[in-house]
Amino acid sequence: MALTVINPATEETIARLDEAGVEETDEAVGRAREAFPAWRTVTPTDRARLLRRLATLVEEHAEELARIESHNVGKPISGARAEVAMVAQVFHFYAGAVDKHHGETIPVAGGVDMTFREPLGVVGLIVPWNFPLNISSWKLGPALACGNTVVLKPAELTPLSALRLAELVLESGIPEGVVNVVVGPGRVVGQRLVEHPDVAKIGFTGSTEVGRGVMQGAAGTIKRVTLELGGKSANLVFADADLERAATAAPYAVFDNAGQDCCARSRILVERSAYDRFAALLIEATRKVRVGNPEDDATEMGPLISAQHRETVASFVDGDALFRGQTPTGRGFWFPCTIVEASNDDRVAREEVFGPVAALIPFTDEDEAIRIANDTPYGLSGSIWTENGGRALRVARALETGVLSINSNSSVRPTTPFGGFKQSGFGRELGLHALEGYSEVKNVFVSTE
Ligand code: NAD
Repeated sequence: MALTVINPATEETIARLDEAGVEETDEAVGRAREAFPAWRTVTPTDRARLLRRLATLVEEHAEELARIESHNVGKPISGARAEVAMVAQVFHFYAGAVDKHHGETIPVAGGVDMTFREPLGVVGLIVPWNFPLNISSWKLGPALACGNTVVLKPAELTPLSALRLAELVLESGIPEGVVNVVVGPGRVVGQRLVEHPDVAKIGFTGSTEVGRGVMQGAAGTIKRVTLELGGKSANLVFADADLERAATAAPYAVFDNAGQDCCARSRILVERSAYDRFAALLIEATRKVRVGNPEDDATEMGPLISAQHRETVASFVDGDALFRGQTPTGRGFWFPCTIVEASNDDRVAREEVFGPVAALIPFTDEDEAIRIANDTPYGLSGSIWTENGGRALRVARALETGVLSINSNSSVRPTTPFGGFKQSGFGRELGLHALEGYSEVKNVFVSTE
């Protein structure tokens, strides 16, 4: 079967690929399995050198990779450039981590006890379409640093950057078979990886619904899983915040990547006494978001990923909106920046829209703000805007969420842990924490008697 890859900004076909099935997936797992014994014994210095070389190659091909990503996802080129820069930083970070992730000696009676960090073997990496290269690197970096070999499955809609990266992996000198990319449907290729007896772990990023199936499928072989799933994060704005700063930043926390961001702060909770002023400032700031041709350096928001996804997003905005922005006309899966007033019980506040739709919700005091923010099955990210330092930390401790920012919307950095509470998943990516998910601890006791 052929897979057609489309540019969401023009609806043009940009590639046709052969679609892999179960047989090709098994072959890729076989190659990864064969490559494992040699890769796990590459010296830490050499493994670090190879990862560093890969990071440098990404830097050298940054513009090309950013253009591939921009064409395939419809994301603005400026954002795609920033993402590719992060990919290189992630590989640099894990190159540096290879020889710093090690075991310990533990005082015991009658001998010496020591621990080793062992690789898992072949790991399956399943990635969504919203940040294809970025999220691939978050998994590849720690997986390779720990000495695993991998089978990477990009999303069907956005396979192009992963395929180019696989070529750079070979150019870096990382041996053949260590990184394998398989392009095909999730329910065939993804499912096979999840159930394959020779795959030791699945690193999955995607929807909570598919994540639930991954967890069930992995149970058959007691496979390790890391799940980075959906979100419905809150942006809490207290009346004592710098309202202008908060309102200027808020649109980018929802409309970045056209809202197709698991960290989107799509519930904006505002203290009643500041609600009207904040709403006016938010509309003013949202009006300035530049929506249009992703190839234009100044563009801040592109189209949605597909016509089907646009229909899903539209289904969340049935009544009056407080604000609806402009979009280009003609071809492309455009959807305007949209702000609606909502209660936390409304569908738009409960489900992940994954589009540029913000729900504005009032609260009366700190206790109610915390209650509303936590009243969701998700727990991925969030922001707190206040000039009161004690309150900022008090609220941060009370929120059931994995990644928070205070007076900021920043969520991801190569060096800091990222991941969810509740149905946003478990396990951590990025930072040194990610290495835990790609290694096993082995304990060895040596008798001295
Ligand atoms: P999705 O769950 O539909 O697909 C994700 C990946 O899983 C794709 O590669 C897909 O082919 C594969 N897949 C589909 N069915 C499968 C199956 N039965 N078995 C194994 N794999 C299967 O998600 P999506 O629509 O590509 O991405 C959007 C979702 O991803 C949103 O919910 C978003 O919040 C989430 N996301 C989470 C994070 C995070 O770090 N928490 C980051 C980005 C996106």
